[in-house]
Amino acid sequence: MKKVIIIRYSEIYLKGKNRGFFERAFENNLNRALSSFEHELIKQCGRYTVREFNEEEIEEIIEKLKKVFGLHTLSVAYETNSDMDSIFEAAKLVARTSGTFKVESHRGDKKYPLTSVEISKKLGGMLLDYAKGAISVDVHNPSFSVRVDIRENGKALVFGEFIQGANGMPVGTAGKGVLLLSGGIDSPVAGYMMAKRGMNVDCLHFHSYPYTNLQAKEKVVDLARILSEYTCGTKLCTVSVTHIQEAIHEKCKPELMITLLRRFMYRIAERHAKRIGGQCLITGESLGQVASQTIEGITSSNSVVEELPVLRPLIGFDKNEIIDISVKMGAYETSILPFEDCCTVFLPDFPAIRPKLTDILREEAQLDVEGLIEEAFATIEKIQL
Ligand code: ATP
Ligand code: MG
Repeated sequence: MKKVIIIRYSEIYLKGKNRGFFERAFENNLNRALSSFEHELIKQCGRYTVREFNEEEIEEIIEKLKKVFGLHTLSVAYETNSDMDSIFEAAKLVARTSGTFKVESHRGDKKYPLTSVEISKKLGGMLLDYAKGAISVDVHNPSFSVRVDIRENGKALVFGEFIQGANGMPVGTAGKGVLLLSGGIDSPVAGYMMAKRGMNVDCLHFHSYPYTNLQAKEKVVDLARILSEYTCGTKLCTVSVTHIQEAIHEKCKPELMITLLRRFMYRIAERHAKRIGGQCLITGESLGQVASQTIEGITSSNSVVEELPVLRPLIGFDKNEIIDISVKMGAYETSILPFEDCCTVFLPDFPAIRPKLTDILREEAQLDVEGLIEEAFATIEKIQL
């Protein structure tokens, strides 16, 4: 008996006339996620089935599907003829050998000779006889369920569990953003959150080589790769800010180092975004987490962004909530590796907690802002993920 995987989508069902647009993106992303596996993806009445795959690869296929945004739940089902004897053969494979159970039936084919209640009763009786007392019925709180879906094509799908997907909207349906990706915990999670709402995410990383080492860069490349599994392909560019940090270090008050550097990062990121068709910047900032993320700190860095919105999907998250998502997306182990990104070089002992714009502008006036930005763009590197 053949196994198929049933895929149900999440919020797409709320869409009206433009549902087709979201469905096409979802289909593309599913096929892309499964591109290294033999498979066929079929759409049927608002959901999908994956079939014709190598059953030895089913666990890997499920892991890939769980990373496709827009997927609400999936089930591994047996596809069989819709007569009760065939359904029973499949149900024997789904049922456990002990515990309590219930049968839930659904008829897509309204001409089927039995109603869904009759199907459930009949199949429940057959399973009870077969198990000879090892299982019993509990319709309110069963330890497992056997589910039957009678299709219009004379086939039935028989399955047990719903496996949770990543939910959200299909990537590619909500524009493109440039994620400021550091080597920390927060920014990969911020990218994940925006991809979850359907956004294409490209990454920009600032480094201070040779003050930071190549392992720090490798770590960011690894994080971009992990993110890429959810974003249907992410591009990563790196830019050196070494000369900017050196200039700030030489000419400006040390307590404003982070704020001044942030302003350069935002300026460079906005220009980069415009060059590559990005419609917003994305950061991993969370209110009050560190000195540069007080409302004053955010205001002072944000004020150099001229046109694009800056999205901060983690702004109201606690660190432990961010860590939970980081673990779930598989980034945490990489994020906590000890290699430092640029911000820890030249780090002042006491960064300004509530930097004043007048102070910042006075310090910045000592720098050749445009020249430094130009110099930074000359170091841009596209990384092959
Ligand atoms: P993260 O865990 O994402 O590094 P953080 O808590 O360390 O965040 P900050 O270092 O203040 O916070 O950085 C705030 C945000 O600025 C980051 O989430 C990221 O979006 C951006 N950022 C910081 N450093 C870099 C960098 N080297 N390259 C690109 N973006 C950066
Ligand atoms: Mg950081």
